[in-house]
Amino acid sequence: MRKTLIASAIGASLLVTACSQPPKTEQSNTAETVKTSQVAIANPLLTASTLQYQAPDFSQIKDEHFAPAFEQGMAEHMADIQAIIDNQEPASFENTIVAMEKAGSLLTRVSRVFFNLTGTDSNEARRALQSELAPKLAAHSDNINLNADLFARVEAVYNQREQLKLDPESDRLLEVYYKRFVKAGAKLSEEQKTAIRALNEEHSKLTTQFSQNLLKLSKAIAVVVDDKAQLDGLSESQLKAAAKAAEDAGQPGKYLLSITNTTRQPILASLNNRELRQRVWEASAYRGTSGELDNRPLVSRLTQIRAEKAALLGYNNWAEYQLQNTMAEKPENVFNMLNSMVPAVVANTQAEQADIQAMIKREGGDFDVQPWDWAYYAEKVRQEKYDLNESEVRNYFEFNRVLHDGLFYTMNRLYGVRFEPRPDLPVYHPDVQAFELFDHGGKSLAIFYADYFARDGKRGGAWMNSFVGQSGLLEQKPVVVNVMNIPKGPEGEPTLVSFDHVTTMFHELGHGIHGMFSKVKYPSLAGTAVSRDFVEFPSTFEEDWAALPEVLANYARHYKTDEQIPAELLEKVMKAKNFNMGFDTLEYMSAALLDMEWHSLPADTPLQDVESFEAKALEKHGVNLPAVPPRYKSTYFSHSIGGGYSAGYYAYMWSEILAADAFAYLRERGGLTRENGELYRKNILEVGNSRPPMESYIQFRGQEPTTDALLIRRGLKPQID
Ligand SMILES: [Zn+2]
Repeated sequence: MRKTLIASAIGASLLVTACSQPPKTEQSNTAETVKTSQVAIANPLLTASTLQYQAPDFSQIKDEHFAPAFEQGMAEHMADIQAIIDNQEPASFENTIVAMEKAGSLLTRVSRVFFNLTGTDSNEARRALQSELAPKLAAHSDNINLNADLFARVEAVYNQREQLKLDPESDRLLEVYYKRFVKAGAKLSEEQKTAIRALNEEHSKLTTQFSQNLLKLSKAIAVVVDDKAQLDGLSESQLKAAAKAAEDAGQPGKYLLSITNTTRQPILASLNNRELRQRVWEASAYRGTSGELDNRPLVSRLTQIRAEKAALLGYNNWAEYQLQNTMAEKPENVFNMLNSMVPAVVANTQAEQADIQAMIKREGGDFDVQPWDWAYYAEKVRQEKYDLNESEVRNYFEFNRVLHDGLFYTMNRLYGVRFEPRPDLPVYHPDVQAFELFDHGGKSLAIFYADYFARDGKRGGAWMNSFVGQSGLLEQKPVVVNVMNIPKGPEGEPTLVSFDHVTTMFHELGHGIHGMFSKVKYPSLAGTAVSRDFVEFPSTFEEDWAALPEVLANYARHYKTDEQIPAELLEKVMKAKNFNMGFDTLEYMSAALLDMEWHSLPADTPLQDVESFEAKALEKHGVNLPAVPPRYKSTYFSHSIGGGYSAGYYAYMWSEILAADAFAYLRERGGLTRENGELYRKNILEVGNSRPPMESYIQFRGQEPTTDALLIRRGLKPQID
C-alpha cells in the first residue's frame, strides 16, 4: 500500500486528516457554515455527502469543483486552528486535542476524493491542479505543525497528563499529537529552529538534486547496441521495444536497453551475450559514481545533514530519531532482527549459487558466477526445476470466482462478514463496483469499492485508500477502496488472473478490512494510520489464506469445466513462488542494512567515502557476497538517500515477520475459524493506532514475534510439522 494519499500530499503529519463532517457546535465555525451553504448547490464538495456513510456523490463532482474546495478547505482549517489558539479558556484535552481532531473537515473531504482520483482516474486538469497544490498544501501543513502558539497549548495539556486520568485511547492520542509536534522541532529554541531550517533547506535542495540526477542518469546510462546479433535471446516484442526506444532517443537503426531502478536488471535473464550482460549490469551498478551526475558527494552530505538534524533534536543519530513512534522503537531492534536472519538467508543464497554454478558448468562455462550472470542462469535453473505454464495456471483463476469464492469467502469464514453489491451507489468509473459490508449479526459496517482493472489514467501498482475514515467521535463509518491493475479479459470473455494477482487481491483486501473493521474513537488513530513497520502486516497476513488448501478448493477451479486445480500443478505454483528467494531476501536485507548503517552515523562524523563505507557496512553484517550486491547501492537508493524511507527500508520485512508469525500461529490454532478471525480482528484490526503496536501484537499472540515463520514462509527454512 502507498501511504494514505492525503498524508503524502500534505506532509508527514496526519494532523490535517482530522475530520470529514461539518462541525456542528463550535461557534468559530458559524461564519464558514453560512458561506458553505450559499455555494453548496454549485459545488457538491463543500458539504458532506448525503449518501450512505458520506460516500462521495461522483455523479455530481466535476473537476472544476476541486480548486475552490481546496482553497476554502485550507482557509476553514486555518480558521479552526486559529479558534483553538484564541480560545480564552485554559488549554484542555477537549478544547485543544479533540478540537484538532474535528478541525478541517472540508479539506479532509476534498483531499480524499481528489487524491484518490488522481491515482485511479487521472487527466490533464487533475494533474495540473496536483502540481499547483503540492507547495500550497506543504505550506499549509507547516503553518500548523510549526505554530508555536498551538504547540504551547498542546504542551500545556501534555504536561497535565498524569492528573487528567484520560481513558487509554485519549491518552494515546495526546501522546501521538505531542510527539509529532516535538518531532517537527516544536521544542527548539529560536536559534536551534534557525539551524534546523537551514539544514532543511540544504536537505531539500540536495534531495531534489539527487532525484533529478537519477532522472537524468536513467537516460544517460541506457545501453545502446548497434548490432542486433548481440541481442540474441530477446523476444520479438523486446527487440521491437528496444528499436523503438533507440529511435525515440534519436538513434534510429540501433537498439536501446533502458536501465530500471534496482541494481538487478530484468533483461539480464534473457541476454545470451555475456559481454553485453556485463555492460548492462555495470551501467546499473555504477550509476551516479562519476562525471557530472556523481551522486556520491550528495550521499555523504545528506546522511551527514540528517545526523546533524538528529543531534539538534537531541538524538544520537538519524535512525534513532526516525524510529521513535515505530514498532521497532530503536535501531538496535532493527539490527537484531536483520542480523538474526543473516545465517539462514546466506546459506540459502549459497545453495542457489551452487545450482547456478553447476548450470554454468553444464553449459560449458569456465567462470565463477558474476552478478550479471545470476538472473540468466537462475532462469535456466528455474525452467529445469519447474516448467510452469502460466496460461494453464490462469485457467483456474477466473476473476469473479477469485473475488467471491476466494476473497469474500475467506472474509466470511474468518470474520463472519458478507459483501453485498450496491449498484445504486455512484462510482467514479464504470469498472468500479460498490459493495456494502455487513457484520456477522447483520449490522452494516462500511462501503467498499472494488477497482481492480487496468486502464489509461490509472497509475501502476496496487493500493488501498479511504474516502471516509472511521471515527466514533465524528460518527463516521469507513468508505474504502481497493485499486489494482489487472488486465481485463477481452470483451465478452472472462478475466483470467495469475496467482500473483490473486495474492495481491488478498493483500489489498487485508488493508481494506484494516480500514473497515476499525473501531476507534479518534480519526487520527483509525485503521491504517499505524507506523510504517506495522501497516503492511494486516495485508501480508491476508495473502497467506489465498494459498490455504481449504480456500483454494473453493475458488481455484477451471473456468470452463469447474474442475479443481490439479494438485501437481498447484504444487509447482507454490514452489515456483519461492524460487530464488535466498537471493531476493539477501539483496533486500543488504540494502536495509546499508540504509541503517548510513543513518547510524553520529553528527560529528566526517564526510564518508561512499564505496568504502558500503563495503565495510556489508562486510560488518556478513552479507558481502560478490555475486549478490544490495538491491540498491547508495548512489541510487532513493528510498534511503532520497529521504522518504531513510532508516525505514527495513519496514517491509518487519511487517512481513509479523504477518508470517501471526499466520503460523493461527494455523496451529485450527486455521480458518471464526474464533481465530475474532481474535485477530479484535486485537489487531479494530484497534488501529489506539495503542502501541507491540502491545496489540502481544495481546493477540501472547508473545513477541520471532523470525522463524518468515524464513519458512520464504522457503528459507524447512517447515517442521
Ligand atoms: Zn500493502
